[in-house]
Amino acid sequence: MNIVDSFADVSRFVALRRDIHQHPELGFEEHRTSKIVADLLREWGIEVHTGVAGTGVVGVLHCRSGNGGGARSIGLRADLDALPLQEENRFPHRSQHDGRMHACGHDGHTTMLLAAAWHLARARDFSGTVNFIFQPAEEMGKAGALKMIEDGLFERFPCDAVFALHNFAVPIGGFALNHGALMASSNTWRVTITGSGTHASMPHTGIDPVGATIDLAQQLQSLVPRVVNSTERALLAVTQLQGSDAPNVIPDKASVGGTVRTFSVDALDRIEAGLRRLAAGIAQAHGCEAEVFFRRASPPVVNHEAEARFAANVMREVVGDAQVDENHPGVLGAEDFAHMLRVKPGCYAFIGNGEGGHRLPDHGPGPCIIHNTSFDFNDEIIPVGASYFVRLAQRWLAQA
Ligand SMILES: [Zn+2]
Ligand SMILES: [Zn+2]
Repeated sequence: MNIVDSFADVSRFVALRRDIHQHPELGFEEHRTSKIVADLLREWGIEVHTGVAGTGVVGVLHCRSGNGGGARSIGLRADLDALPLQEENRFPHRSQHDGRMHACGHDGHTTMLLAAAWHLARARDFSGTVNFIFQPAEEMGKAGALKMIEDGLFERFPCDAVFALHNFAVPIGGFALNHGALMASSNTWRVTITGSGTHASMPHTGIDPVGATIDLAQQLQSLVPRVVNSTERALLAVTQLQGSDAPNVIPDKASVGGTVRTFSVDALDRIEAGLRRLAAGIAQAHGCEAEVFFRRASPPVVNHEAEARFAANVMREVVGDAQVDENHPGVLGAEDFAHMLRVKPGCYAFIGNGEGGHRLPDHGPGPCIIHNTSFDFNDEIIPVGASYFVRLAQRWLAQA
């Protein structure tokens, strides 16, 4: 392991990470967290811009150390927000706020990027501009990344490329990424079918929307393999069904809903078109009408090949060849960094958080997996992630 020397002792950052963990804040409400970030960046002599998309913070650090042109710029992004979950851990740095928890490790992402900023501001061992992007509201489809872009992020803070890390249940000291889609698009849909309600004992006097909805739900189970190339992975899940509130009433309306996950926009287009076609056709066959709601919440996270190769080389420099999986198959979860990768080249990658052995005594009964009430970020990886960000900035900016 080739950790940046400054991170031999990260006790101050471990304390900081646990402090943020104790005070989780939901998307666009990260006032305390963003103040901590802004105050520290200022203390270290970094130019600070607050209020970017509400609670977002951007730190800008220029330096010309003489070993490069100094004209390039890089964006390094961390997320600030927590989840609306009740933490089950009982160790001292558990959440102090009922119903809010850093269950996705954004406390750790923020800390790793702060540690990198601290080193770069102190050592000034690079040439160019580093933009430290602390984004609000990654969770819950709030699209804080998109809001920052709409708020002029890349016009105000030009970046030649953007990079981000997310902790994941792979071994400590490991990184995983790929050269294409690493995370899926996330989309929600609902079809409301309207018939004509009546007494359940006299169905011939109405038009039953429940039967049409059941038909549609069944047909949707086999839509994906019919419209998406079988070499590509995609998923349509039916998770919600709603009919009458009373057992003896055929309602006017019934509905079915769920989620769609794809690694490409083409697959998503095909699934949405197929869903609309089936909804209209099946409703009509039953004498009903269908209304389709389809929301594209988050596009797929698609890495850019050159930047992914570059990032993987930096990871190998930090943790060694064997610890970098450059061909990860991707996961069907979603991440709003996707929006940044649509407008800038860059790379998103996973950093190994381990299997949970790092959790302190009195952790909750569940596994140490993100979005779990027993999760905790692994402080051992703070120097690993921070070293990656530091070396990435140095190497990326030093290119001709
Ligand atoms: Zn999350
Ligand atoms: Zn997350």
